[in-house]
Amino acid sequence: MLLNGKVAIITGAASARGIGRATATTFAEHGAKVVIIDLDAAAARDAAASLGEGHLGLAANVALPAEVQQAVEQVLARYGRIDVLVNNAGITQPLKTLAITPADYDKVLDVSLRGTLLMSQAVIPTLRAQGSGSIVCLSSVSAQRGGGIFGGPHYSAAKAGVLGLAKAMARELGPDNVRVNSIAPGLIHTDITGGLMQDERRHAIIEGIPLGRLGAAQDVANAALFLASELSSYLTGTTLDVNGGMLIH
Ligand code: NAD
Repeated sequence: MLLNGKVAIITGAASARGIGRATATTFAEHGAKVVIIDLDAAAARDAAASLGEGHLGLAANVALPAEVQQAVEQVLARYGRIDVLVNNAGITQPLKTLAITPADYDKVLDVSLRGTLLMSQAVIPTLRAQGSGSIVCLSSVSAQRGGGIFGGPHYSAAKAGVLGLAKAMARELGPDNVRVNSIAPGLIHTDITGGLMQDERRHAIIEGIPLGRLGAAQDVANAALFLASELSSYLTGTTLDVNGGMLIH
C-alpha cells in the first residue's frame, strides 16, 4: 500500500486499455482515492466505478482552463486535498512535417502540452499549501529520439515540450516539497498504437527492443506508482525511460 489515504488525479484514464486506466487501477490497489478526468462524463464515471468504491470520474477537456478549474474544484469539494497529479491525457497523429496543418498542431499540442500546464496550474496551490505533492507527466520516447514510430513531428515537439515544462516546474516547486517527474514510454500496446500497426511493422520494431517485446500499460503504471509514491522521495526533474531498452542514452 504505497498510496494509502492519498488523492490522485489521473487525466485521460477512461480509455479501457490505456496507460491512464492501468495507472488508476494500480493506484487504487495501493490505497489511493483516484479521480479520473477524461473528455466524456459517462466514460469517466464508469472508469472510476470500475476501480471500486470511493473514486470519482469527471469530465473535462484538459486544454480548456474553465473545465480544468471546475474539475479540480470538484475534487477539492469531495476530498479536501490532492496529493498526486498524473498528466496522462494525450493524442497523436501519424503525419509528416509538410502535412501538419495549424489545426493539427493546435490539437496535438493543446492536449499534451497546454493540458499539462493547465492541470498543473490548477493543483499547484493545493500541493503548495499542503507542503507536499507529486506531479507525473507522460512524455514519450518520441521526444528523445525524434519520433519515427508513428507520432508526427508535432507530437515529438509536444512531448519534448512536456519534458522541459516538467523540469522547469520541478526546479520551481522543489522548495515547496512538490516533486515533478516525467515518464518517457517506448511503444506501449494501447488503443493509441493498437489499430495503427501491421504485424510486419510490429516485428521490425520489436527487433530493435532489447527486452524483445512491446510495453504493456502496466509497465508504465508501475513507473507512475514509483514516481507518485514516497519510494521516489528524492527524485525531481527526472525522466524515467520505460522503453524496454529501445533507446539507451
Ligand atoms: P489512449 O488513447 O489509450 O488514452 C488517451 C486518453 O486521453 C483517452 O481516454 C482520451 O479520451 C483522453 N483524452 C484525449 N484528449 C483529451 C483531452 N483534451 N482532455 C482529457 N482527456 C483527453 O492513450 P495511451 O496510449 O494510454 O497514452 C497515454 C499517454 O501516454 C499519452 O499522453 C500518450 O501520448 C503517452 N504515450 C503513449 C505511448 C504508447 O505507445 N501508447 C508511448 C509514449 C507515450
